[in-house]
Order: sequence, then C-alpha cells, then structure tokens
Amino acid sequence: MKARLRHIFHKYVAPKALVLMYHRVAEPESDVWEVAVSPDHFEQQLRVLKEEYKVVPVRELVERHNKGNIKRNSIGITFDDGYIDNFLVAKPLLEKYGLPATFFIASGNVGQPGEFWWDELEHLMLFSDSLPATVDMEVGGERIIFDLKEEAQLSNSLQQQHKAWKACEETPPTKRSQLFYKLWENLKPLPPAMQQAQMQQIRDWSGVAVAARADCRSMSRDQLQDLGRSELFDLGVHTVSHAALAFHPPLVQEKEILENKNFLQEIARNHVDLLTYPYGNYNHESMAVAGKAALKAAFTTEEKVIARSAHPYRLGRFQVKNLAAPEFRKQLQIWKYSI
Ligand SMILES: [Zn+2]
Repeated sequence: MKARLRHIFHKYVAPKALVLMYHRVAEPESDVWEVAVSPDHFEQQLRVLKEEYKVVPVRELVERHNKGNIKRNSIGITFDDGYIDNFLVAKPLLEKYGLPATFFIASGNVGQPGEFWWDELEHLMLFSDSLPATVDMEVGGERIIFDLKEEAQLSNSLQQQHKAWKACEETPPTKRSQLFYKLWENLKPLPPAMQQAQMQQIRDWSGVAVAARADCRSMSRDQLQDLGRSELFDLGVHTVSHAALAFHPPLVQEKEILENKNFLQEIARNHVDLLTYPYGNYNHESMAVAGKAALKAAFTTEEKVIARSAHPYRLGRFQVKNLAAPEFRKQLQIWKYSI
C-alpha cells in the first residue's frame, strides 16, 4: 500500500517543472513549424511567467531534478538553434524582466551569412515567384519526379495558403508545399556536406540564388560571447550541424556533440553541460554519447513535465507557440497538469 501511495504522490501531487522551448522571436513571412513568437506576444508571455511562475536557470532545474527537490511552479526557458533574433530581440526582453534562459546553439552556422537549410528550402519552395514546372531529381537516395503544373508561378492565393500552413498539424495544402515537405523529409537525415550539395542542386534546378536574409541568420561569435558571459544566460549543446543524431553512427554523433561543446565552452561563463537533440531526434547511442561527454541532462521535444521519474537524457519540453497572454496562461495550466 505504501508503495502505491508513493506512486500516486509522485504521479499526481509531487511538484513538477515545465521546460519551455522557443526558437525565434520574430515575425517571419511564414512559419510552417510554428517556431516563431512575435516580439509583442513574447513580452506578454514573459510577464505571465514573471508574475505567476518561478523561472529558474535550466541548470538549476536539472540539479534539483537530480536531487529530487524540484520546486512547485518552476519553469525553465530554452531557445534552440541560435538565431540572431535571440540576441537582438529576446535577450533585451529577458533582461528587462530579469528572467534566465539557456540558448542551445548549432555552432556550424555561427557567424555565417547563409541561412539554415530548412529556412532556405521553405522560402525557395513556398515563396519563389517562379519555379520550373517539373522536377526530376535524386534527393537522399530517392528519385523525386513531380509536376507543379499551374503552381510553377506563385499566386496570391498560394502565398496566403503557405503563410497559414502548419506542417505539424495539417497535410500540405498545395503542390509546392507537398514538394517542400518531401524534400525536407529526404534532406533531414543526410550528413551536412550532402545536405549542402543537395541544396545547391535544388537552387540550380530552381534558378534561385542562395538565400541570405539578414533576419534568418545565426548570431555572430561576438554576440554569442556576449550572451554566454551574461549572468542571466547559459549556452547549451545543439550539435555542430544540427544533426538528426539517430540517423548517424556513434562516432559522428560524438564528433557533433563534442566539437559543439568545446566551441561553446570557450565562450561561455558557466559549464556547457546541457544538450537539446536537434529535431528531438535521438537514440540509445545519442544518450550514451551524452554520458561520455559528461553532460548533465538532455532534452527532447516530447511534451512531458519534468517529473521525478524522468530519465536525465530524456527530459521533455513544451514548444511555445505565438500566443497572447490569455491563451498562453491557459496553455501553461494544461501543460502543468499533464502527466
Ligand atoms: Zn534545432
């Protein structure tokens, strides 16, 4: 009976923490993965967090989790990837409210003029004025033959559909978005050099030049250093090339994690010992590499509270969408009481 009561206590009553996942604080032309929060909504969300929760540094939350003494109502804030708006927009707002956050950085793109491949692909496929009508291309070992027909030319209607499309919840609404999704799926597991080569092949096919939109860049090394030395902020591992780890052999996984960790450690004030898996993609080998790299915790994209029973290399997070304060408040309540 005692064991059962203990089980019920930990499942329903014991304090649990939430870790929030952000990527961008911006208003991009489209946001098919729902990773951007507008600056106005972000500030509204920070006010809710400041007034109604206890925002703690993620490393403190991890330490408390390991010791089994998580405080009620505690929340950790994470940012993935290292977009420049994290520095230009999110940092000043977090400072204004005195809220700590950890920024997980894909270091291969730091200081580079180019965009992440998925942003460039989204822009190219969904918003290029004109694309060739037919595709016959091998991508990721699969021959893709596709006819865009009348969608070769971008129309207002297509633009509107692409702006409204949420790829995680809805099937692609247009031929262009079908092709985009197919290419995205085939590119995601590839080694970085192959991804870049295939992106060049797609640019050549499209006749569209390489995209380097200033707002889609990553932070520079100086900006990252500024962030990493701030009292409020920490840096964390997100691999060099934003690798979908489970698709790669253990040695590649190790290189991706260790090189990223060493790069960030030179910049950061605190120990760099937390990881978020790119795309939330990992396997047992990734967890073993995390152990070997002496990381204290690793976060997935699975929507789970940080409960006492959670494995330190499989901690959940909640992706925050572009919600105003009332909806955000409700969303936090739902997450808080999820099991
Ligand atoms: Zn990421």
